[in-house]
Amino acid sequence: MIKYRNELERIKPYIPGKHIDSVKQEYGVCDVIKLASNENPLGMGRAAAEAVKANIANIHLYPDGHCTALREKLAARLGVACDQIIVGNGSDEVLKLVAEAYLTEADAVIIAEPTFSEYRFAADLMGAEIRAVPLVDYRHDLQGMADQIDSRTKIVFICNPNNPTGTIVSHAELVEFLSRVPEHVLVLVDEAYYEYVTNPSYPQAIRLMEQYPNLMITRTFSKVHGLAGLRIGYGIAHPDVIRALERVKEPFNVNLLAQAAACASLDDGEHLRRSITVNEEGKQYLYRQFDLLKLKAVPTEANFILVDLEREARHVFQQLLAKGVIIRPADAFGLPSHIRVTIGTMEQNQRFVQALREVLYADRD
Ligand code: PMP
Repeated sequence: MIKYRNELERIKPYIPGKHIDSVKQEYGVCDVIKLASNENPLGMGRAAAEAVKANIANIHLYPDGHCTALREKLAARLGVACDQIIVGNGSDEVLKLVAEAYLTEADAVIIAEPTFSEYRFAADLMGAEIRAVPLVDYRHDLQGMADQIDSRTKIVFICNPNNPTGTIVSHAELVEFLSRVPEHVLVLVDEAYYEYVTNPSYPQAIRLMEQYPNLMITRTFSKVHGLAGLRIGYGIAHPDVIRALERVKEPFNVNLLAQAAACASLDDGEHLRRSITVNEEGKQYLYRQFDLLKLKAVPTEANFILVDLEREARHVFQQLLAKGVIIRPADAFGLPSHIRVTIGTMEQNQRFVQALREVLYADRD
């Protein structure tokens, strides 16, 4: 057999949320809801849908490899220059480009644990050492992470809000951390859920980039914009960092429909506001229900909630599947008694709570 690279031995396959169709088939349930991958329950907005339709006629053409229109629009919105932005096939791709551009087996990265799995994947792929610093009370331990920095450290990943906990690093905490980080270390703040954050202590990280040129931010159109299936996200960094990432980027990494939909979505303020309102109402409803069920929910700044069921959550997950409700057991995150549930429409939230109540009470009998 042909031997693949040794580094690949370390890579565990990504476990995605279960698909609606496979649950329908496996469990024979016809009405299945998915609250497992932090997607927007309202779908994409009307402007994005129209842009997709209008651009179907252009599918035979290669897309703009530089995503010029989108980068210009984002630059104007975010108050940065065009050459500070790179667009990727999902922010996943941007994270991978960072690893490909900067990491070798001689380097180390620092991540929180648990956090979003892509940082570990990207670092493993390049054979870099991973230093994982446990969360404290579900929050990043930035002091502990700073203590791990040495001459081999190349990147620190900060997921803000953190997946799967929904907790944030505050402005004061981020600034204090950045002041401790040497210039040779890239600090990558992943803001995939930033539109949902309501806490006033959340940093305006982009505004810190001038003072800290080693700061990079990633965001995505997969969450509040509802475009997860099209795959489009972006990174904001110093032009030198963007130029390094462009060296490893495929020429046509972002498809034409995604670029058109993302551009249109940026102008669809109404859809964004509605998505945020639905999320906020669902969050308050779910908090109340978890309270009534005497379950401890971690206060969230994102569109998902981590809940401690104080029992084997995988078992509950399977029973919920049989009732046509897909959520995420958090055992893969090292939290075997927790589930992570995406905040859905009110109807979906009610259906989830009803199913959860049935499962928990059946368990108690
Ligand atoms: N960052 C975080 C924290 C996420 O939770 C996700 C999606 N699960 C991503 C990045 C990747 O998003 P995408 O590749 O769809 O932009």
